Amino acid sequence: MDQILDQKKNQPWQAKQSADLYGIERWGNDYFGLSDAGHVTAKTLNTEVALVDIVKGMVDRDLQMPVLLRVENILDAQIQRLSEAFSSAIATASYTQSYRGVYPIKVNQQAQVVEEIADFGKRYHHGLEVGSKPEMIIALSSLEPGRLIICNGYKDEEFIELGLQAIKLGFECFFVIETPSELPIIIERSRALNIRPMIGIRIKMISQVSGHWNSTSGDRSIFGLTATQLIDVVDSLRQEQMLDCLQLMHCHLGSQIPSLEDIRNGVIEASRYYVDLVREGAALTHIDFGGGLAVDYSGIQSEDNHSRNYSLEEYCEILVGTLKQTLDNESVAHPVIVTESGRAVVAYASVLLFNILDTTTFESSGKSLPQADENPLLAKLRNISTHLTTDNIEQSYEQVHLYRNQIRDGFKAGQVDLRCRASAENIFLDVLHNIADALDTMDQIPESMAGLKLSLADIYYGNFSLFQSLPDIWAIDQLFPIMPIHRLDEEPTRQAVIADITCDCDGKIDNFIGLTEPEKTLPLHPLKVGEEYYLGVFLVGAYQETLGDLHNLFGDTNVVSVRLNRDGSFDFVKEILGDTISDVLSYVEYEPKQVELSYRNTAERAVQQGRISVAERQQMIKAFRASMQGYTYYER
Ligand code: PLP
Repeated sequence: MDQILDQKKNQPWQAKQSADLYGIERWGNDYFGLSDAGHVTAKTLNTEVALVDIVKGMVDRDLQMPVLLRVENILDAQIQRLSEAFSSAIATASYTQSYRGVYPIKVNQQAQVVEEIADFGKRYHHGLEVGSKPEMIIALSSLEPGRLIICNGYKDEEFIELGLQAIKLGFECFFVIETPSELPIIIERSRALNIRPMIGIRIKMISQVSGHWNSTSGDRSIFGLTATQLIDVVDSLRQEQMLDCLQLMHCHLGSQIPSLEDIRNGVIEASRYYVDLVREGAALTHIDFGGGLAVDYSGIQSEDNHSRNYSLEEYCEILVGTLKQTLDNESVAHPVIVTESGRAVVAYASVLLFNILDTTTFESSGKSLPQADENPLLAKLRNISTHLTTDNIEQSYEQVHLYRNQIRDGFKAGQVDLRCRASAENIFLDVLHNIADALDTMDQIPESMAGLKLSLADIYYGNFSLFQSLPDIWAIDQLFPIMPIHRLDEEPTRQAVIADITCDCDGKIDNFIGLTEPEKTLPLHPLKVGEEYYLGVFLVGAYQETLGDLHNLFGDTNVVSVRLNRDGSFDFVKEILGDTISDVLSYVEYEPKQVELSYRNTAERAVQQGRISVAERQQMIKAFRASMQGYTYYER
């Protein structure tokens, strides 16, 4: 056993080792890095800023953890990269039309995010995709005329009227027909308002993709028109002398598509539809490939659901090149290429930061020294560690459970006392840790011991709500990169799972990105007395903020937007205070004034019963009121 432990080299830990361990260069997309001082940095504009320095700025401004940090430059940089990658693919392929990106508001509807995209995106003519009337109102108030608005989703008269007025104002606003029943409303309303509509048509894709959101395509997909329905729409428009209004063809294969081959197959199918719709007389000028550009959350560049096996450049090349090939073969003019990338645009810019409040460890307390008259099973337990080798590891694992269970049975039967049982549990944990260390030196972990590491892992209690801030971890087992944002020049010697502060056993994270596949535990540092320990959950800008819920009434977190400057400084550009207790109570229909009144009355009765003085009542009411205005999370 000593030999095994000796194999663990005792070299001073370097920040570079932490970078490899947490994979920051694999998933960080050049937006996150590690400084020699062991700090995670946000990087843009050839400069980098340590996240702990931003946290210090938050603390100085009394912005409590947890905080959702948005780095605005990263949002800008992603729009720039997307547009430039398409421009480059278009130039390389000698494609004759341009690219137009539209951001789907549903991916992150927060005003600060949409406003930044609308503002920075102006130089790339980036538009917005909307799927409901509220999103349409956001688009109309965020963009200026001339920009592209794609209207997906089921549209009633009011929605269509908003879109028609937008066309009159000068927006390029397309109604994408998702079901045949929308067409008569569009025709009727456009005639009534005397505005020529810009119509798109969504095709039902048969090409299936891998990944979590693959039901968006295929025969049973609930989206898009079948070949028969497409022909009906074309015929109806022709009959109404409106076929010239059918200018856009839309398809969306799914979100987070991990395989480039799947994307290529989808584009081939879409291109065929495009050619035939043109032949049917549709005046198509735009093809919209929807979303699907994946984020490599795990950084392993594979076809795994949390990854992608292609780069942004390859994605653009495959869309442009594959489309061009089909169109050129059929002598069909090139349309403007639209994509609705959501997660790839916003995921990188947001990081959830939280502090660790406490830990639970599963280790012996060390109080199990041999005693003269002790139960012989204790000596047997101790002996397992002495004779442990990688050859007898499975047998040792069985034995330690056998002896420990015999002690437990003896305790139940009244033959073993509590002190002996406590010693047995201590030695049991010691042996398991020795076995776990030995496992680290083995190439393959025996199946029976696959759960050992997890059963010994520490629990780190994080000041956040999984349900509020990371709902996809709970709902669909989404993986996000998670790591400490400081102390990375120290070796993380603990293996842990993370629990949130809700009272729910689902409120935990025990699936983390690994080198090739997910790991059940995360290496972390032991807490230091009197020092905060901060973790970051990265790439959380897409879908997490508004899908979250109020479990245990933990509300929205504080949000801080920063902008990095070229000289390495940074500015706090926006802050939003998270929900107060009063806010969350009102969300579930409590009336905060009534809540306080009820408390005042209870305190008044206590005065009448002589339990408290009037002065004490006043103090209590003051504290109650302060609580109502306080943060819903744990405050130091
Ligand atoms: N467009 C449509 C129609 C969608 O349904 C979605 C999401 O599923 C998107 C765009 C955004 O996809 P992504 O976030 O993968 O870019």
